[in-house]
Amino acid sequence: MNYHVLTLFPEMILQGLNTSIIGRAIEKGILSLEAVNIRDYAGNRYGKVDDYPYGGGAGMVMQAEPVYAAVKDLEERMSHKPRVIYLTPQGRVFRQEMAVDFAKEEDLVFLCGHYEGIDERVLEEVVTDYVSIGDYVLTGGELPAMVMIDAISRMVPGVLSNGESGTIESFHDNLLEYPQYSRPEVWRDKAVPPVLLSGHHANVEKWRREESIKRTLERRPDLLEDANLTEKEKKFLTS
Ligand code: SAM
Repeated sequence: MNYHVLTLFPEMILQGLNTSIIGRAIEKGILSLEAVNIRDYAGNRYGKVDDYPYGGGAGMVMQAEPVYAAVKDLEERMSHKPRVIYLTPQGRVFRQEMAVDFAKEEDLVFLCGHYEGIDERVLEEVVTDYVSIGDYVLTGGELPAMVMIDAISRMVPGVLSNGESGTIESFHDNLLEYPQYSRPEVWRDKAVPPVLLSGHHANVEKWRREESIKRTLERRPDLLEDANLTEKEKKFLTS
């Protein structure tokens, strides 16, 4: 998987994604990460890429041409048209199944806005996916791009080692994950649920499934609508 991030702040992307699991996957060559500075396509010697909005109003707008030139340059280098994701609070809200879908691509381009956003005309020309990371407004698209890259990378084969599960986690099957415990068995008078110490695999699985459903009901009941539950489990929920 090759990530290409178009941004006014490349150092944010490069510093933010070079550690831990993602950093290791980049080192191994399973992922590659390139941060393209949109200012390099400014077309003026000041690197100015923004201007006042037509119609008035607060803030500045990123101009169309530098963004267009940066995307076209990338496309030429790749010799195919990649998906171009514009991070925007006006996009479809990012979810785990989108991470799974994006992880199938060979290249992904992330376009990070700043200030009041980007001239609509270039978005119409180059963007294939409008994605938001939640219903709030951030100062730029860099953190959302990093959030997406992190979540997508976990779904790329080879990024997680055998010990790091990528499939049976929260949002798998539209359920939240069961509670997790580690040593010691008793911590400040709180004991680990005995079933987890029993060594009885089937009982552990049953307990985890029940806890998963209970937790989802408590914290994210909206997910249950699309969860894959047995008739018995559905009855348990309504009891
Ligand atoms: N004026 C825009 C609006 O009201 O929709 C918001 C612009 S925001 C201050 C600047 C940039 O941050 C956006 O162009 C976008 O790239 C990014 N951004 C802000 N909030 C975001 C979110 N929730 N998800 C994804 N990107 C976001």
